[in-house]
Amino acid sequence: MNPNQTKIDNLTSAIRNIPDFPKPGIQFKDITPVLADPQLFADALELLTNDFKQGEIDYFVGVEARGFIFSAAAALKLGAGFIPVRKPGKLPYDTYEESYDLEYGSNSVCIHTDAIRPGSRVVLMDDLLATGGTAAATAALIRKFDAEIVQVTFLIELAFLKGREKLQGLPVRSLITF
Ligand code: AMP
Repeated sequence: MNPNQTKIDNLTSAIRNIPDFPKPGIQFKDITPVLADPQLFADALELLTNDFKQGEIDYFVGVEARGFIFSAAAALKLGAGFIPVRKPGKLPYDTYEESYDLEYGSNSVCIHTDAIRPGSRVVLMDDLLATGGTAAATAALIRKFDAEIVQVTFLIELAFLKGREKLQGLPVRSLITF
């Protein structure tokens, strides 16, 4: 079997499904067993970054909080910077903010106004693509800097929620699809 497929199968088996968390009807994909196992964590990082060469990406952008884990590791591995995108009120300097709609109400994500040099090559990485609202708002933040979004990369995609439709025109890659 393709060695990458074996790694993906092992990662898929390790992801824990928690029914009705954080609220009834949600099947929460718990990645903590992947992070706790050094081989699985290394395999996930290897697969998430194998499209990129050393030095070819300027920044990995990660979304609070689980998105920080893979983006920061990927940035270190590939000689890139790491940029945090956070909920309002968390970043200390001036920020840009983008809102997106939820089933009930809305959420926002923020980035420092000086986070990204114009013309940079950027990868947006998160643990999971659900409805795509978070990633689409984060992509809108990155576009404010006139930067190139080289890829939007996820460990997990919940395909039935059609998050890709909110990311049209962007190269989207996910390792594991449910
Ligand atoms: P969305 O904006 O709907 O694509 O949601 C994506 C964000 O919410 C990601 O940062 C995920 O970490 C988190 N998320 C949404 N749904 C789930 C789920 N079923 N299991 C784990 N995390 C989720």
